[in-house]
Amino acid sequence: PLDKDELGRATWSFLHTMAAYFPDNATKVQQKEMSAFMKIFAKYYPCEHCAKDFQVSIKESPPATVGREEFSLWLCKMHNEVNRKLGKPEFDCGRVDERWRDGWED
Ligand code: FAD
Repeated sequence: PLDKDELGRATWSFLHTMAAYFPDNATKVQQKEMSAFMKIFAKYYPCEHCAKDFQVSIKESPPATVGREEFSLWLCKMHNEVNRKLGKPEFDCGRVDERWRDGWED
């Protein structure tokens, strides 16, 4: 059966890693494509109520896709919104590269 937590961890790992390797300065086409990808992703994420809420969040704050930094920060904020909803601690978005690109110190 589908494990919502396992799916969530795997998905966040994919999304944050994708953001961490997005071009520093995305072309207009890349910006459009990544925005479209996130909107379509939000429609088909296989957890119905998660997908519904995420679509609302994206409508309220559309994907920031001008480049890697902005996109990583936007995604961190989206993830924190879910964290808040679930009563999980907020992640320090200043450490997003450390977590998803450069690797933690320890
Ligand atoms: P996760 O939240 O899965 O995080 C994985 C790792 O990411 C953490 O260990 C941490 O190192 C890092 N991290 C944490 N916060 C951030 C951040 N803000 N920015 C960058 N890195 C971070 N579950 C539900 O029960 N209800 C929902 O409505 C729901 N909606 C979801 C919507 C989406 C789009 C996704 C992808 C998942 C959703 N989930 C939902 C799953 C939920 O977010 C968690 O993945 C799941 O509860 C497992 O949590 P976790 O504590 O293992 O860490």
